[in-house]
Amino acid sequence: MNRALLSLGSNLGDRKQHIETAIELIKQRVGEIEFVSSYYESEPWGFDSLNQFVNVCLTCTTMLTPFELLQKLKKIEQDMGRTKTKTTYEDRFIDLDIIFFNNENIQTQELTVPHPYYESREFVIIPLKEIVKEGHPFYHFIKS
Ligand code: AMP
Repeated sequence: MNRALLSLGSNLGDRKQHIETAIELIKQRVGEIEFVSSYYESEPWGFDSLNQFVNVCLTCTTMLTPFELLQKLKKIEQDMGRTKTKTTYEDRFIDLDIIFFNNENIQTQELTVPHPYYESREFVIIPLKEIVKEGHPFYHFIKS
């Protein structure tokens, strides 16, 4: 059994509802949810927009490989109406990122794990620290 930490974000429409729908789909298609952080409101990162994000971090267990997990998350994004119109960051109904996958270090074109920016993004690190406490298997990533 594998364990993953995911970051969820939405800055369009009913943002909390989108996060809840994504959590439901993760339960159905990915595995069991362990911990879910509270909602965290943040400024758009990397692009200008008047639409604030709602972010959440969660940990889950899964039988999927990291690449299967990425495909499932991309499918959930699509099924929830996300259409990518730009190659840069933009407003979105839902954004799903893999932050950690076991202790794996993956550096490929398609997938980088741990997520390359997690330490510098408050909208990841603040909700993440809420659910990853001392004794949690991911604690060593954040203890410094
Ligand atoms: P985004 O626009 O944030 O959904 O990310 C776009 C691309 O980032 C996806 O097509 C993924 O292939 C790639 N990617 C690389 N590393 C990750 C990761 N850790 N989690 C999610 N997507 C990733």
